[in-house]
Amino acid sequence: MKLLAVGSVAFDAIETPFGKTGKILGGAATFIGLAASAMKTEVSLVSVVGGDFPQEYFDLLKSKNINIDGVEIIKNGKSFFWSGKYHNDLNSRDTLITEVNVLADFDPKIPEHSADAEVLLLGNLDPAVQLSVLDKMKKRPELVILDTMNFWMDIALENLMKIIAKTDVISINDEEARQLSGEYSLVKAAKKIREMGPKFVIIKKGEHGALLFHESKIFAIPALPLEDVFDPTGAGDTFAGGFAAYIAKKGKFDFETMKSALIIGSALASFTVEKFGTERIQNVTSEDLTDRINRFKELTTFEALV
Ligand code: AMP
Repeated sequence: MKLLAVGSVAFDAIETPFGKTGKILGGAATFIGLAASAMKTEVSLVSVVGGDFPQEYFDLLKSKNINIDGVEIIKNGKSFFWSGKYHNDLNSRDTLITEVNVLADFDPKIPEHSADAEVLLLGNLDPAVQLSVLDKMKKRPELVILDTMNFWMDIALENLMKIIAKTDVISINDEEARQLSGEYSLVKAAKKIREMGPKFVIIKKGEHGALLFHESKIFAIPALPLEDVFDPTGAGDTFAGGFAAYIAKKGKFDFETMKSALIIGSALASFTVEKFGTERIQNVTSEDLTDRINRFKELTTFEALV
């Protein structure tokens, strides 16, 4: 099945307890594309950058078989720039700078070849843009996956609720699920969020794994305990990209497929956090991925004891 993803393609500057970068390649759609590429799944990106975006980055994305026909270049504009600083535990961060630049007037253009994509991943962006992408599709995709964050709950709740109502799968973190639902219990939160529209609710819990809710069913996975966690930027986008890529590859939307997709998304996100920015995820081999999936299996399989 065809996979189309919309999100930011950007410059990031990151500070963690282990060091600091200058302006490097970032953006939600970038991580989504690289995750799909690591899954050997074709993906088309819809985004916008400025004339300052280096050819080297386009070449990198193209070399990973990521279709960027839908990435518009505004020659006299500047690319989106985000800068963040992580606290000592790496679980929380402060946004230092958000320069929206060309993303401010983003009018997404969907390439003809992708307007009938069966799987649409609406990466973390202004819900108004997410709504317009869905509107511009030739037909309603078979599966719409939404990634969002508390920032949009604070400033664009009305549009966010509109897009949530049109979504099949929503991916958010625990804090955001609580904010969106007003419930502390994640089980109650997921139930309320399902009542807003999505049949499937994914709640990410950072280094504590993720939960998948569907009807009365719950599936839980841990995060792989890693020796080196260096920079969590893009972990959520990588997760969503890997999840969507697996589903597009399988062409099935049932709970069992979603469970496997959750593992794939988490395995891929575990690479992203090992180095700054896209450095690790852009170099993941099939062997690396297989190895990590096997580690997930080892970590979670046991014999029934009674
Ligand atoms: P994550 O760590 O998964 O939350 O994603 C971080 C990525 O999201 C970075 O590469 C940023 O460039 C991008 N990002 C941060 N804030 C925004 C925003 N308001 N709109 C679009 N992309 C953003």
